[in-house]
Amino acid sequence: MNLTLHEIAKVVGAKNNLADLPDRTLNNIEFDSRLIKSGDIFLPLKGARDGHDFIATAFENGAVVSLSEKTVAFPHILVDNTEQAFQKLARYYLEKTGVDVIAITGSNGKTTTKDMTAQILATTYKTYKTQGNYNNEIGLPYTVLHMPSGTQKLVLEMGQDHMGDIHLLSKLARPKLAVITLIGESHLEFFGTREKIAVGKLQITDGLVNGGELIAPADKLINAYLPENQKITRFGADADLYLTTLYEYKDYLIFNVNFLDETLTIPVTGKFNATNAMIAAYIGSHEGVSPQNIKQALAKLNLTKNRVEWLKAANGADILSDIYNANPTAMRLILETFQDINKNENGRKIAVLADMKELGEKSAEFHAEMISALNPEKLDCLYLYGEEIFPLVQHATEIFPPQTVHYFRKNAKNDDLPELIASLQKNLQSADQILLKGSHAMRLADVVKALQKND
Ligand code: ATP
Ligand code: MG
Repeated sequence: MNLTLHEIAKVVGAKNNLADLPDRTLNNIEFDSRLIKSGDIFLPLKGARDGHDFIATAFENGAVVSLSEKTVAFPHILVDNTEQAFQKLARYYLEKTGVDVIAITGSNGKTTTKDMTAQILATTYKTYKTQGNYNNEIGLPYTVLHMPSGTQKLVLEMGQDHMGDIHLLSKLARPKLAVITLIGESHLEFFGTREKIAVGKLQITDGLVNGGELIAPADKLINAYLPENQKITRFGADADLYLTTLYEYKDYLIFNVNFLDETLTIPVTGKFNATNAMIAAYIGSHEGVSPQNIKQALAKLNLTKNRVEWLKAANGADILSDIYNANPTAMRLILETFQDINKNENGRKIAVLADMKELGEKSAEFHAEMISALNPEKLDCLYLYGEEIFPLVQHATEIFPPQTVHYFRKNAKNDDLPELIASLQKNLQSADQILLKGSHAMRLADVVKALQKND
């Protein structure tokens, strides 16, 4: 981290006198006392448990000093609010290092676009990125303060749970490029309308450096709420950035974009991933990465696990697993991709769809509307699992042949997960292709595991 104890005290506005504490460079900052090592500073946060209860453990593990909201028996920097102190420190560290920040938000595709962008930039610059999904008011400063020294480009994911989240993160990070991947329907529960989601996401421009640029979909909501004079590059049909060709294969995509002369390949499926890659390629060329390096980085992509993956079932069937999260846009897109892929010889196509969570009041409507994304000519068999998805069952039985739609419950009283697994194990044949899609909480991971297990 390369910040000294007194430097930190000054930045966070220590309320106590630290003149007696010798100054020294601190190695690292951690809010989990178990991760503290010799020479570190401890950050107690008030979460489910009060981190202040672990200050003693942090010192046993080698902490030199702790931030604290109260006077304690260990060397500490007294502040009103440790979380805000952490954010101030991250802001200061970014200024001190002068690193270029690229910020990515959106209802879907943040992590994927972040990983793709970082991989492209890493061909040419020392690059660091949000680890995993550390995209909130704690994860983001954590990422910043764990950035290795000498980093030139920092790619940060910004998540939005509530209005104002992105404002805070953008003001902290001060990006030179800001991306909105998609205005979707996630978190409608908290936001109410897509309009409000758009307003919330557009707060990513609040902290843009002078002359900073927004990259966003050609969506009328973006136009409606875009701050005046904001420099913007739009993507989508007829916009500034678009795909000129797209060929979809089972495990990869080949495509061209209007702003590069290279044909690009990515070793992942899902049309939306071509869009994510296009955004990443644009950022790469904006930052001066050569087209050859962009092409090579994309061809060798290594994405965070459990996004869209092809796996093999124990009996040889192909599993398309997209079980990390779900919302209507994502479910539609993956259904489109899955239904368009060629079937294996003598094989069938089976879709297992589970509840999409956090859709709020309109959940029943969103689930029912998924009927328009289902094509009985391309899908042989449908498994629906959950409670919120129930409105889709009735519609599906109307358009699919008899005996091809199966419903399994999951509510407060019953969970038919074992029955779902048993039924799939009985029905799945080696030449079949099976898609699994649903919110993380629906535990489709257990279904994937069961199908992969030999017994
Ligand atoms: P989270 O909010 O959980 O951090 P995220 O925005 O980081 O999610 P990813 O992890 O990149 O999103 O992708 C999650 C899922 O969203 C993917 O598995 C895929 O189904 C879908 N998805 C990815 N990119 C897009 C996109 N551009 N448009 C629509 N859906 C997408
Ligand atoms: Mg993410």
